[in-house]
Amino acid sequence: MPRILQQLLAAAAALGLAACTTTAPAASAGAAAAPYTMADFPRVRKYDAHVHANTADPAFLEQARADGFELMSINVDYPDFPTLETQRAAALALAAAEPSRFHWATTFAMEGFGEPGWADAVAAALARDVARGARAVKIWKNVGMVERDAGGRLVMLDHPGLAPVAERIRALGVALIGHQGEPHNCWLPLERMTTENDREYFRNHPEYHMYLHPEQPGYEDQIAARDRFVAAHPRLRFVGAHLGSLEYDVDRLAAFLDRFPGATVDMAARMSQVQYQSVRDRERVRDFFIRYQDRVLYGTDLTLGPGADPEAFRRQAHAVWRADWRYLATAQSQRVETIDADVPGLALPRAVVDKIYYANAARVFAPAAPPGAAGG
Ligand SMILES: [Zn+2]
Repeated sequence: MPRILQQLLAAAAALGLAACTTTAPAASAGAAAAPYTMADFPRVRKYDAHVHANTADPAFLEQARADGFELMSINVDYPDFPTLETQRAAALALAAAEPSRFHWATTFAMEGFGEPGWADAVAAALARDVARGARAVKIWKNVGMVERDAGGRLVMLDHPGLAPVAERIRALGVALIGHQGEPHNCWLPLERMTTENDREYFRNHPEYHMYLHPEQPGYEDQIAARDRFVAAHPRLRFVGAHLGSLEYDVDRLAAFLDRFPGATVDMAARMSQVQYQSVRDRERVRDFFIRYQDRVLYGTDLTLGPGADPEAFRRQAHAVWRADWRYLATAQSQRVETIDADVPGLALPRAVVDKIYYANAARVFAPAAPPGAAGG
């Protein structure tokens, strides 16, 4: 195998993505009802609702243009990422370069949380970013896993100190993307995790591997705090990142979506957990997507940082996007290394694909109404 292809496959596997090895079925008879094919991939309008363009390098935007994607690039207060100032500057530059294709979500730092004026300062900064085009606000898993209040207690998402910020986000008319907790695998020992990408991530990030930290809140504590928060802010447009951290069971995810009719979830970096379920019961997973076709946003977590090779990134993004399309939109099987399985595609109906791949994100991340507009 050529070395570059090996590297690409290794990169894809590290992200928990699929390497295609097989193609299968012929086109079926009823053309009107037939699912999309791989040939449809570049021309169907699509939206990757969860990426991180952490540099103003145009490679991400160029590949999105080539493959027919709009992007939601999410700023995150993540120690492995460039500073929030660098992330914001990259977002503003790329949004200015192609405003109809590149969209961004701002965030805020928890530094100073609980001190007088913190919530007001955050609110003012978020208002400024929304005025500059931000379509959403991200709250990351440092809330619930890292940040502590003045009393030394972990700040969970439903901490009262965060309520004024949530209220401001609602008033600004933009979505809140919440990543709380971790995949269910995080609370299991490495050898019991269901996917190789989780195993690799938690091997490399023992600080987030909660199986090693039994003194920390458990999986159900994280989910319960998130659910109390969503219940307390019914008019907030809540997007649960990474399938709302309920990636391991589509029935449990369905119960969340039933309980919170205003909430949606993105699929970023959780495709292999969905595939893990569908190789065991394809119809259960396929029925989930059909039933919740208005509630799920396609997303990848593709990340381009400073110093990365732009051409290698473009090849990776293209491969990831095509592999996911093969799985969701067609009936073709592909080898998914991270779960060591041949995974048949779901061949979702075209109308369902159109929503998951575009319409839902376009609705959830619609631009905020200008200040003073009616209806606020
Ligand atoms: Zn992400």
